Amino acid sequence: MLKSLRARLSVMVMLLMALSLGVLGVWLTTELRALLALIVGSLLAIIYTQAVRKPLRLMAEVALGIANGDFHRRADVSGPTEIRQLARALNNMADNLERELHRVQVTAEKLQAVLGSLRDGVLLIDNRENIELINPRAAEMLGFNVEVVLGKRDTLLLRHPELSELLRQARREVSACYRRILLGGQAVRHIRAAVLPLESKRMLIVLQDLTEVYTAIDIRRDFVANVSHELRTPLTSLGLMVENLLRGALDERDVAEDFLRRMAGEIERLTEMVMELLQLARLESGQEELRMGGFLAGELVQEAVGTIQGLLVSRRQNVVLEGEPELSLSGDREKLKQVLINLLDNASKFSPEGSTITVGLREHSHEVDCSVKDRGAGVLPEHLPRVYERFFKSSPSRGGGTGLGLAIVKHIIEAHGGSVYVRSKLGEGSTFGFTLPKKSEMGSI
Ligand code: ADP
Repeated sequence: MLKSLRARLSVMVMLLMALSLGVLGVWLTTELRALLALIVGSLLAIIYTQAVRKPLRLMAEVALGIANGDFHRRADVSGPTEIRQLARALNNMADNLERELHRVQVTAEKLQAVLGSLRDGVLLIDNRENIELINPRAAEMLGFNVEVVLGKRDTLLLRHPELSELLRQARREVSACYRRILLGGQAVRHIRAAVLPLESKRMLIVLQDLTEVYTAIDIRRDFVANVSHELRTPLTSLGLMVENLLRGALDERDVAEDFLRRMAGEIERLTEMVMELLQLARLESGQEELRMGGFLAGELVQEAVGTIQGLLVSRRQNVVLEGEPELSLSGDREKLKQVLINLLDNASKFSPEGSTITVGLREHSHEVDCSVKDRGAGVLPEHLPRVYERFFKSSPSRGGGTGLGLAIVKHIIEAHGGSVYVRSKLGEGSTFGFTLPKKSEMGSI
């Protein structure tokens, strides 16, 4: 403001000088007048140039700043009209650029947030096969470091030939291509890869992790195979015995009685398995409600022991209670009793006649612990992680069970918010047990 005032004053002084010289010129010679006019003109030109040069230089600096990414600088709107117009235009352009840049930044942040939270892997490949964009999930699935692979061409080709092949196919066919591929080292993941060509000749790759789905399919297939297998054995032996009876064994009373006894045993086993399967299905589908209540753990143990008293007597085994029988449990009484029966039944079946089974009841700060310890042959260490699986039988010939008992135990205990465990030493015996939270919450299985 001050500067422009000074510039104007200088122009006025010059004009006054010119006027006075003009008046003087009446008495001067023609040559002198021309010289004076030239001097005044030159001075005026210098002053005008000064007034224009400075704002122009500042504008150039602002423009350069914008070109280098500094969108906050603005030009000084002063000087002659044209210069002011130019400065305003430059400032408008800077405003627009700044707004646009902010919009782009916000969009990029949103995209980043969406890509970061996706469960699917997403990659964008440019037309020279460089990785242009990769979200954290895709990097995790492909074993890539995002910082390292961005902009790299050979990473996909070298490390994931199946994916590169799919990429080439999609480029050739100019249409979306899909394939199920396996990724990962030790823990193999089943991935459904989709490659979609975009208009810009870029390729969008979407990776869906379907491992859980395939695992569920495998479990169902195994389950059906296991059930069929478990049913086939008793059914075949029943069929054979009926055939033998019809072929004449019926006439020999002793033989016939033996067959019928064995048939009754097979039928009992089949019935038990069907009942257990039904119970497992109900537990897994969440149809069974927990009827919660409070009761003494010692009493429940006595009831469970009473239920299998016949087996214990026939095997001359006795059960001793250790710990705190007065401990109170909170849960579904009937289901927890069934858990104890299953554990005691196994302990009896898998330990020698005349041995002792110990039930331990202990209280910790947040949970209660119930264990059933036997002095049997124990479980092979490699089988320990699998004993609670459905249909798992470590020694089928000796137990003759269905392999479903412990799976039911695990379901019931986990539905109570507890967890199961097993400890075993070959030749010394096993301890199967569970812990329950002190106050189980009401809920459905
Ligand atoms: P089942 O007893 O009907 O075979 P379970 O699910 O109860 O089915 O047990 C699964 C397997 O775990 C058994 O077949 C057996 O190999 C092993 N197991 C269970 N309890 C014991 C135990 N107390 N001692 C040794 N092995 C056991």
